[in-house]
Order: sequence, then structure tokens, then C-alpha cells
Amino acid sequence: MRAPLTTRRATPPRAHARAVAAEEEEGEERGARHRVVAMIDAAKEGASAFVAANFAGPPPRGLPPLPPIAKLSPRVIRVLGQNPSAFTLQGTNTYLVGTGKTRWLIDTGEGKRAYAPLLRRAMKAHGVEGLEGVLLTHWHGDHVGGLASVRAMFPDVAVVAHKRVRRDKGEKALGEGGNEDPRAARTYADVADGAVFRATGATIRAMHTPGHSEDHVVFVLEEEGAMFAGDCVLNGNTATFECLTEYSASLERMERELRAAVDEGNGNDGDDGGDGKAGDGDDGGEITPTDGNNASVVPRGRLYPSHGEVIRDGVKKLAEYRKHRSWRENIFMDELRDGWRRDPRSGGMTAAELCDVVYSRQVSWLVLKTACAHITSQHLAKMTEEGRVVREEGRALWGWVLSSPRYRPAASEMGENAGRARADPLSAR
Ligand SMILES: [Zn+2]
Repeated sequence: MRAPLTTRRATPPRAHARAVAAEEEEGEERGARHRVVAMIDAAKEGASAFVAANFAGPPPRGLPPLPPIAKLSPRVIRVLGQNPSAFTLQGTNTYLVGTGKTRWLIDTGEGKRAYAPLLRRAMKAHGVEGLEGVLLTHWHGDHVGGLASVRAMFPDVAVVAHKRVRRDKGEKALGEGGNEDPRAARTYADVADGAVFRATGATIRAMHTPGHSEDHVVFVLEEEGAMFAGDCVLNGNTATFECLTEYSASLERMERELRAAVDEGNGNDGDDGGDGKAGDGDDGGEITPTDGNNASVVPRGRLYPSHGEVIRDGVKKLAEYRKHRSWRENIFMDELRDGWRRDPRSGGMTAAELCDVVYSRQVSWLVLKTACAHITSQHLAKMTEEGRVVREEGRALWGWVLSSPRYRPAASEMGENAGRARADPLSAR
């Protein structure tokens, strides 16, 4: 049997000091509440520290190198943001979309000096003279950081940046007609769910997919039955999220939409969007065979992620993400059931205890551990919304317990150890 665990083991010193101070000031009971709040703060700090520590690091080993410019299909050219790191993998992917002389640009990298000249080179090589505009998946710096340099490339053209505006953060939308000074930073034409953007050879539909960030949108490329997935799915790592409940719902919607796009294409081969404009191959024989595909034949169902190589079977990858999350959730539920077995009367665990037993086997580094605390608290919030667990106030420290007998172990299971040797569905990446 495991020794009883305490919150303090998983609480970083700064937050812990704050919690202790609160406790001395306001008495044991209120102090306990403050400790919970401090732990949630610590989890957030940990997540940011995790990001800070890792942005400086090199990309994970074993990732395939990506060419700086690659034609991935007759409609999609990828230009790398020139910002490789542990978190951005080979760097942020930006995509030129369409087949004509003006195309859409999805995302702008993080503002590295080498990016704008590379974009110019990619455009020149493929006969692209201008941009229809810029589409941005979400507010993170490695996606919007290059916007100023992209606008500077087109001083005579009003390059309008479309992005879902975060109203809670006071971001401004462009005025009527989108004619506000295009050089003003952080000023976007708001993107509504379902908004459609067209260029020759491309119909791009926006889908609001909050969770990784509140403003996140993915873009469906109708002609290919493909999806620009932003940071919802990465090829080479699992994605981070601000809100797991929203993120899960968004991934499920993406899976449904992509499956529908694939099915639609299978029943309706050769439909080129009905726009009667330039079709496949108008760019001549410059298609770069990447991903082991001849890009002139584009199978439907692709994900074009913001980080990493093209994902050929997007529906399969999204299903793997879904299974990975329920695998993780089952582990939390199993631990709570174990707690119940040990002591059916108080049978709950704190978030910190759960985090310790679920992750301490895997990680010891404090920064990483506090990032794990963030994930744990997100899972608990989601499981609470689903009614599977409840937060119980009666204990010395607030803890989570299984909400109803239907989640608790049966009498016949008491004292047994639940088999937990299931494999992570994503571990074979
Ligand atoms: Zn992001």
C-alpha cells in the first residue's frame, strides 16, 4: 500500500510559501482553501515555466527534417517559420493556399528575420504575385509574430489579417470594410465559425475550435477534404490546452467534420469545387514529393498541422487523440477507485495526490511536474462537469471523490488491484 501523500510534495516552493502565509493569517480552515487556490496557481505557473524552459530547447530528436519550402499538393505550399524548438518542433508551418496568382496565407511564423524572404521566394517560385489576405489560427506568438513582416512585404496592398478576436482580452476587430491602418498590430477582421474564404482553386471554411486557446480556429480546405489543424493536433508531440473540456469537444468535432469530408469525396470524386477555375497541375511539374506521396494525387482526409509533417490519415490521428485522452482519464478514475478501496468512508484524493500517483512514476523534474498538475486539474474539471467526480469540502483539504456508486468499485472488487497495464494509444507515434 502506498504511503499517504500530502499536497506539499507536489506544490512548488513559491506557491507553497504563499499557501503557508495564508494559513497563518487566516486560520487552518481558510488556509486549506487558499492552499487549493495556490496549487491551481502553481499549476498555471508551472505550465508557463514549462513553455519558457522548452521554447529555448532544441526540437526533439528523431523528427524528420522538413524542407524550408515544399509543395504538398496542387493547392498547398508549406513555408517553414524558421523557428525550430522543443515546442515548435521543426518550426511553425505556414501555408500558401490556392492555385492562382493571389493566394491565402495561413499563419505567419513567429517573426524570425529569415521568414519573410523565404515566403517571397516561395511565392516567386510558384508564380504567386500577392496575397488574398492572411488567416491566423490563434493568437500564440509563433503564429502571429510574423504578421508585421508579411504586411511590410506588401506596402501597396491592404493585407487584411483574419483571426477570431478574443473579446475577453480586449483585442480589436477591423472597422467597417476592413480599412483600418493595416500596420496596426493586433487588429484583425473577426473570423466567425463557418466563415468561408475563397481564392482561385481553394474554398477555405473556418471552424471555431477552442481549447488549445479560446480563439483557435481550424480551416477546412473543401477541394481536398483536408483540414489545417493549427495547434489542435501536432505531428510529433501531444498538444497542450487551456481548457480540456473545450479541447476535447473541438477534437471530436474535427473528427466528425473530417470524416464527413472524406465520405463526401468518396461519393463525389473529381469535384473541384465547381469554380471552373484552374485545376490540378497548373503550377507545372514542380510538385515536391514529400510524405512519401506523389502530391499530384491528393487523398482526402489530410491534416496540415501547424507543427510537423502532413498527417495523411487525419481521421485516424484524431481518433488516436480521443483514445489517448480517455486512456488518461481511465487512469485517474482507477486511482480514485483505488482510494475508495483503501478507505470507502473518506475515499477521496486531492488533485495533488492524484497528480503524484499518476505522474511521479514518469517525471521528477519540478517544472514538468507542475505542468502535470495543470493537466490533472484540467482532467478533474472535465470529469466534474461530466458528473463523474465531485469535489468534497469535508476533508482537511478539498478532495475529489467518485460522484456516485456507479463509478465506485463493486464489493466483489474490493481489495483487488485493477489491471492498469493498458497501453497509451499515442505511444507508438
Ligand atoms: Zn499555440
